Amino acid sequence: MNSSIKNIIPRKLGYRLKNIRSVVRGYVYKGDQYYCPICRQGFKTMLPGGFDLPVIKEKEIVGGGYRQNNICPRCQSTDRDRLVYLYLKEKTTFFTAPQQVLHVAPEQSLFRVFSKLPNLTYTAGTKYQEGFYYSDELPVIDLRALSYNDNTFDFVIANHVLEHIKEEKKVLREIFRVLKPGGNAILQVPIANKLKQTFEDITIVTKSDRERYYGQFDHVRLYGTDYPERLASAGFVVTKTKPGEDAWPMPTVKKFALNSDEYLYIAQKPPIKL
Ligand SMILES: [Zn+2]
Repeated sequence: MNSSIKNIIPRKLGYRLKNIRSVVRGYVYKGDQYYCPICRQGFKTMLPGGFDLPVIKEKEIVGGGYRQNNICPRCQSTDRDRLVYLYLKEKTTFFTAPQQVLHVAPEQSLFRVFSKLPNLTYTAGTKYQEGFYYSDELPVIDLRALSYNDNTFDFVIANHVLEHIKEEKKVLREIFRVLKPGGNAILQVPIANKLKQTFEDITIVTKSDRERYYGQFDHVRLYGTDYPERLASAGFVVTKTKPGEDAWPMPTVKKFALNSDEYLYIAQKPPIKL
């Protein structure tokens, strides 16, 4: 749709049209080849999505690339969203016990579910990033200076946020501070499997250079396989897991159209030793 038409469609009507399109798509693609655990429907195909830039292939960036079976036709969840959802559902008490949750830059498909869970005290906001404004109806949460007390949250979820913010150390310190001891952060980022060391160059500032070197116009670095060490140096105990390798229940990778190359990193603030 061209942008001038988009601008004259009132926001609420826009949402409604999008919703109707999702319902229709859900019906058109109905089937039993794939299953979306978030909207709990089966589909004959998932839809393609992601970026298709040379650097993504060259550096084998997981979490940013184009994939054929990526988007759920009904709830528009990506493979990344489904991985986070399944982990929280199958491996934690996120859906069942009282939890204080901070969710920054919430994925729409997850936000719709999480914001209605009665066991959660759920705080969500759009991410702060210098030079960009990600308009949505949520307040902006600046991860460099959080307004919450120490030891507040059981979970902090901020996926695909760190690669947008220059002050990474400050952000990790803040997330660590507001987590309760034993609390967990889920901070997924695109990771280049071909890069042993995260690449960041402050002279790369234009949108086209950022696309070329980092794989997206608004990224400020490209994470390498040293990513878990960067989390660990902020004090987190990091574990990684993925369905298919660990004991995840049910048919997983193929059925849920996950990315078999994507690990989920869990960054835990160490519990207090008694
Ligand atoms: Zn779905």
